[in-house]
Parts: sequence; structure tokens; C-alpha cells
Amino acid sequence: MRIGILGGGQLGWMTILEGRKLGLSFYVLEKDTNYPACKVADRCFLLEQVDEFLQSCDVITYEFEHIDEGILEKVGDRLTPSLEVLNLKRSRLAEKTFYSKNRYPTARFTYAKTLDLQSAVSSLNTNVVLKTDTLGYDGKGQYRIKSLEDLMEVQRKHSPEDVFLVEEYLDFDFEYSVIGVRDGKGNLRTYPVTVNFHSEGILLYNFTSEEELKEGIQIVESLMEDLNIVGLLAVEFFYINGKTLINEMAPRPHNTGHYTLDACFTSQFENLVRALCNLPLGSTKLKAYGAMLNLIGVGKEDIDLESILSIEGTKLYWYSKEKRSKRKMGHINIVDKDQKELLKKLDLLKDMIYAKA
Ligand code: ADP
Ligand code: MG
Repeated sequence: MRIGILGGGQLGWMTILEGRKLGLSFYVLEKDTNYPACKVADRCFLLEQVDEFLQSCDVITYEFEHIDEGILEKVGDRLTPSLEVLNLKRSRLAEKTFYSKNRYPTARFTYAKTLDLQSAVSSLNTNVVLKTDTLGYDGKGQYRIKSLEDLMEVQRKHSPEDVFLVEEYLDFDFEYSVIGVRDGKGNLRTYPVTVNFHSEGILLYNFTSEEELKEGIQIVESLMEDLNIVGLLAVEFFYINGKTLINEMAPRPHNTGHYTLDACFTSQFENLVRALCNLPLGSTKLKAYGAMLNLIGVGKEDIDLESILSIEGTKLYWYSKEKRSKRKMGHINIVDKDQKELLKKLDLLKDMIYAKA
């Protein structure tokens, strides 16, 4: 099987590294070849080579949702998960509307153009977060609104016709996520729940939860079936006053599932490849408790490899990207048979990487 991936980021990089073990070929479509996945692919095609890319692949997936319209028009009907599912991820409004129409629990919301934000914000009658309808990720395109001044600043920054999701701000107890994998025959498995911690809208670290949080698991199973997803679906949740609300979903490998590379029998990346190739899904069970620390905005010169790797159960994944502030540069996975020990190691690593910053 020849697998095509739209996007050359680290999610594609890990998919290829994992999928290679099965003896498969990987092709990447990107705007230039200086991306992590391009460096490990059998071949990287540039956007203008999309026709050749299409001819070279048996199945096509994506590791990034903000795909150029022109490319999507050509590739759309060959995508797994389907274009319909991808389109839910490309518009926050479409996604949230889907949840409310289908009675999935989610935070209250409305929407408005930049021009009309003031009345939309006051209609919710609570604190809000504004999120641009399209192109947001890692907290980009999001604004917490605490005053009229905050709102006016957003209005100054955006063109009058930009569309925003206006969402109730939740003072949640914690955030968690569940990743599911489903094959073409409808077999479905979910990964263990992780508890996730964000800083400035970017995932900083997460770890496997000792609590099962069945509601989230059931929602993932039900979404995958409703949307007939073949591949992965990651869903981020808010847990607030004993209730689970969906924050957002992603029909692709997810940052909160990086721990599966070391803590689970089969990683999210390998299971995606298995689903795409009609191979039996692998076990999603834990071999040990797992945690992950993202390396955000740090260069190789800022981390002490020796100390990191001296901690038993740690693995470093370095994406070899150009250093930029707030950019995910790599991550560290940690595994331990004992949850308390795992969390101690995670704290130690957090101090090592971020205490001096
Ligand atoms: P992204 O696509 O950037 O991940 P999210 O909607 O997941 O966008 O938002 C990023 C983070 O911002 C969330 O994980 C959460 O920590 C915070 N956040 C987003 N929406 C809300 C909300 N309605 N209330 C409180 N915090 C929020
Ligand atoms: Mg998110």
C-alpha cells in the first residue's frame, strides 16, 4: 500500500516512522520540502505536483486541516477520513452546529461577524471566548473577552466580515481527551483517557488518567459511528461540575495521543495506518502509565539531553523544525508502572525545561 499524507508536520512524521515498520510506502504533499515528514517520506510532492501525488497513492489521509482550497477540490473525494468529516474540523461553526443539532453536549455558543460582535457577546450574557471560524489552532485566533476594551481590540485587528464563534467561557475543573480508532468494517477501539493541561491555549503536558470518564469514551464511540469515520478521531473535553462537554474534535493523529508511542501496545499513528490499510487494529491498552511534555519554543541548545534521558522511562522526540516562540519543537514521553512516580518525573522534567525560562 502507498499512503499519501496531506501536510508535512510532526504528526505526519510520526505516522511515517510508525507505519514504516509495516513495510508501507509514504508520500507527503507540502508547499516545500523543509518539513519533518518530508525528511522521512519516500517522496515529498510540492503542491503544484498534486496530480502526480494522487497517481502515486492508494489511500490519502491528512495530518493538518488547514488545507488549500484548490488542493482540496482535487483530493477531496479520495480522503480518509472523508471530506465531510474534515469540513467539520475546518469550520468551528460547522463543528459546533453539528454538536447542537445532534444533541452532543457542548458549551453554549453563537456566532457573528466582527462588525456585530458586541450584540452577539451580550446575547450570551456571560464571559466569552471568541474563536475565528477558520484557521485557528494552538490557541491562535482566540480571544478571552473580559471587557468592552478587549472586544474593541479584536474588532480593530480583524476585518469587518471575519466570522467568529462566540463561546461561553467555562471555568472548568479540568480538560481531558479520548482518541478512538475505527476501521472500514466498523471495528472500533478507544485509547485510555488523558488529562490535559494547556498554557496560553497550547497543550503543555498530559498524562493517562486513573479515572475512566466513561462519558467521553461513549461520545467518541458515538461520533465515530455517526460520522462513519475510518481512521482516528480525537475529542477534547471540558469537565465541569460533574459534566462532560465537548470542546473540539480532530479526525487525525492528536497531540494528546503522543504518549501512545511508548505507553500503549499500538500507537495512535500505527493504528491509523492499520485502519487505512484494512489491517487488524492493534491493542490500545496501556503497557504502563504514560505522560507527555511538549517542548514549546525551545531550541536544542536550551535542553540538556543528558539529564532528560537519565530519567528512567523517558524518550525524546525532536521534530527538527526552525525555532520559533510558541512553536511545538518536540516532546518528551515518559512511562512508569507507578502513576505517582510518573507524575514526579513529569514535574522534574517541567522544571528542567521551563523553570529557567
Ligand atoms: P485550538 O484549536 O487552538 O486547540 P481550543 O478551542 O481547543 O482551540 O482552545 C485551546 C484551549 O483554550 C483549550 O484547550 C482550553 O484550555 C482553552 N479554551 C478554549 N475554549 C474555552 C472555553 N470556552 N472556556 C475556557 N477555556 C477555553
Ligand atoms: Mg484544542
